Amino acid sequence: MTVYSGPVFEMAVNQFGVIADHLSIPHDERARLLMPKRSVTVSCPIHRDDGTIAVFEGYRVQHHLTLGPTKGGTRFATSVDLGEVAALAIWMSWKCALVGLPYGGAKGGVHVDPTSLSRTELEGLSRRYMQEMIPFVGPHTDVMAPDMGTNEQVMAWFMDTYSMYQGKTVTEIVTGKPVASGGTLGRREATGRGVAYLARRVLGLKSINFNDATAVIQGFGNVGSYTAIELASFGVKIIAVSDHTGALYDAKGLDVAALVAHVGKHGSLAGYSNELQYDPVGMLTLPCDVLVPAATERVIDAKVAAQLQCRILAEGANGPTTPDADLVLEQRQDAIFVIPDILCNSGGVVVSYFEWVQDLQQLFWEEEEVMHREYKILDRAFDQMVARAKRDKVSHRTAAMAIGVEKVRAAKTTRGLFP
Ligand code: NAD
Repeated sequence: MTVYSGPVFEMAVNQFGVIADHLSIPHDERARLLMPKRSVTVSCPIHRDDGTIAVFEGYRVQHHLTLGPTKGGTRFATSVDLGEVAALAIWMSWKCALVGLPYGGAKGGVHVDPTSLSRTELEGLSRRYMQEMIPFVGPHTDVMAPDMGTNEQVMAWFMDTYSMYQGKTVTEIVTGKPVASGGTLGRREATGRGVAYLARRVLGLKSINFNDATAVIQGFGNVGSYTAIELASFGVKIIAVSDHTGALYDAKGLDVAALVAHVGKHGSLAGYSNELQYDPVGMLTLPCDVLVPAATERVIDAKVAAQLQCRILAEGANGPTTPDADLVLEQRQDAIFVIPDILCNSGGVVVSYFEWVQDLQQLFWEEEEVMHREYKILDRAFDQMVARAKRDKVSHRTAAMAIGVEKVRAAKTTRGLFP
């Protein structure tokens, strides 16, 4: 019996089973590694602008506390439930361990469509959610960050709410804050930059000229848009993008700066162009060099995987590829190069870690230093993953997750079981 359920949680369990088998982890040790340490469910009442009261359910799951505080984003979306948040927390643990951060994984969220809230309502919900979480979080317990449906402004409200209760400013309670409120240079761009940096490495490995390369990007929020900007800056042609309102395709290449400006003004890609509209699902299987899912989970299932025509799958989103799809990808003769999510989008948590370190020290770095350190960590983890996959003759995902699980297991083993 467990309180966690749903397809995303099942996917995390299924993936862990593959890794545990690969590492020959004894069965009686598996639940200790897999099951979250803590989960909290809260009711967040807010005043609506029309004078009524609405209540939204919020969650926070802390996966393990073995290596230090937990770390993870907060998602505001209608997909959010305890199972999804638990799966995302588990993936965060393997990710942090893979890239060598002193954190366990966490994730939180509120079941809400943030676009249905006014700015005042969003502020009320953000503040109430953080207020409800105060007994369970802290700079050395659990540090939040942005995720789908939240942004720098929401992090500023979180930080302010926590700080007002402490009677002092505690910038290190969240990361992904505005630079003006203790955030770090380079955090906003960090995840997309990391995705593009790794995709560029693989383009190089495959001897694909950047100026001849094409990319398709699903999701045009923080991760998708900065991936597009970075890839375009290397010379890669962005031929298709999508968001929750639809997809756009232009074989000649889309104007990324114009797309970013449109989304900045209107909040989504809707209304950008009628002529360029395309099927949002069909977009994933367009011929291209780099496919970047940067929206949500489980968009590449076995059927889509069989039809993919990309050469590199750079997973910006968490959990975009189902275990069934992984099996299809492993059997394909044309060997699509998969950069799995826990490596591909880890630039975000890496630079969140830098933000936390800078806040604790009150010593702030130049953007060049942030980027240089981010890329160094990504390069190291990429090399380790590729070497491990080759050595063990396993997929990149299995290799990356095995490295992460192994590190968490080693820490748990050496610390022992209390009491
Ligand atoms: P965001 O809210 O800024 O953007 C999400 C984008 O996805 C929006 O453009 C939205 O319209 C689009 N979208 C939602 N559902 C869609 C669908 N079904 N089809 C196409 N587009 C859809 O969120 P984000 O921060 O960019 O996060 C995106 C993904 O990246 C999530 O999986 C998140 O967990 C992951 N991620 C984010 C970060 C980060 O630093 N923000 C770090 C690591 C991983």
